[in-house]
Amino acid sequence: MNVEGLEFPLAVKHIRKFENLNPTIAVHCLSADEGQKSFYILHISPEVHTKAEVVTLLLLDDPDKPGNHHYVYVKNLSRLLGQRTKHDEKNYVCYSCLQVFSSERVLKQHERHCLIHKPQQVTYPDPSKPEQCKLTCRKHQYTSNSTHTTFTMSAILKRI
Ligand SMILES: [Zn+2]
Repeated sequence: MNVEGLEFPLAVKHIRKFENLNPTIAVHCLSADEGQKSFYILHISPEVHTKAEVVTLLLLDDPDKPGNHHYVYVKNLSRLLGQRTKHDEKNYVCYSCLQVFSSERVLKQHERHCLIHKPQQVTYPDPSKPEQCKLTCRKHQYTSNSTHTTFTMSAILKRI
């Protein structure tokens, strides 16, 4: 591992320098979002699927020293995030949006569309707050050759 010229503790904005010094390692760094009870992406290597090794780090705040942070190595990302589903078998995680999938085939299909965007944080409504769980939309009318057509949308949402 080459860390020449890097200052430690390494700032997230300098992770790319680390990756450039270590061409076989891709770094994936996330942080906990306590408010949303979720995680969000701080850094994802553009070579996350092409480099030989992907290292996932979780950046945690030091509760004793506000402003200080510590990197924690995440050995198994699907185990960290997989508990969000009822699926008991191996899970597959998208590095960009952290959604969990039950099969590698479905993950690969998802990634083709997901990885073209910047990393995202998926949040879900709080089931104890019904006002957050209500899907609404405004009534729109589209005009075509003086004919008004009203489109409606219906959806069945299921929490898994
Ligand atoms: Zn994704």
